[in-house]
Amino acid sequence: MIDYNAILGKIKTKFDKEVVSNEVYLDMEIGNVITGRFLPFIKNLDKSVFNYFWHSYMSLAQNDEKFKKRIFRFCPNTNKKYCPVCDASVKMWKTADLKIKELSKPIRRHSNTIVNFYVLDDQKHPENNGKVKVFKYGTQIQKIINEATEGMDKEIFGSRIWRLDEQGCSFRLKIDKKAAKDDDGKEKEFATYELSKFLPASKIDDMTNEKIEQILNGCFDLEKLIDIVAVEVLEKEIKEHYLDKINVAKDSVPTTTNTKEQNKPTPSVADTVVTSKETTKTPTNNTELKIEDIKETQLDDLLKQLETNEIPF
Ligand SMILES: [Zn+2]
Repeated sequence: MIDYNAILGKIKTKFDKEVVSNEVYLDMEIGNVITGRFLPFIKNLDKSVFNYFWHSYMSLAQNDEKFKKRIFRFCPNTNKKYCPVCDASVKMWKTADLKIKELSKPIRRHSNTIVNFYVLDDQKHPENNGKVKVFKYGTQIQKIINEATEGMDKEIFGSRIWRLDEQGCSFRLKIDKKAAKDDDGKEKEFATYELSKFLPASKIDDMTNEKIEQILNGCFDLEKLIDIVAVEVLEKEIKEHYLDKINVAKDSVPTTTNTKEQNKPTPSVADTVVTSKETTKTPTNNTELKIEDIKETQLDDLLKQLETNEIPF
């Protein structure tokens, strides 16, 4: 006799972000070329493009290199809420102690944007063709989109980038390799998207109105992909894995640090795929001079200045 209740109870209907996240996203493998179309989120057009913030830093709580742990968390600033990690990074950045200032970099917030994307041709992973994926991008791609929708190419592309019919324009994402120096001056390879572009309007084979409707209804609710944990969790984590290890009191601007931790590396760019331009985007001396006088109301502006746009994984 089959116990249906027991079996049915085991079916996971809850969206498990940790497990499916890599399948949901476009595979941004270096060397790949992916052609597809941007999709509007018809249930809420304002959420068609979703910008979010995140943190990714190495825990300092574990001394053994082999057990070093990277902590990845979405930032509450995404929803304009208080973030203890951002708060710590800004306080550390505001200090006059250059070493503490440097240690504020790895915990800074980063920014990315996500959009639904209909894959027409994924050269390295043809199994993705005909599927809706989430396309995650940073400033380089953003500039290309801006140019096509609001810049000089507005007349050619404009709102056509959102269409699946014959008036629509596909986007060809080209992921190339670029050698550049990282923050430590070491030569490294990065992904660059600068040759990506929108293509002239074209008809997609076998596309019908019914199919368009079906695809648009199958889009991801992007906001739901960004799972922000409780402030208490972030607070405890940043304290235990970072601040406690560098003697930074949460509510005070630190002036000292212990020598052992001073040489901790800044975030490894090798762990992320970034463009050289974005990697070298560190605050200018000009910014540094003004930083000491910053008011809390300017916090968001400061965070914006300090953030980088990187593809986290
Ligand atoms: Zn944050």
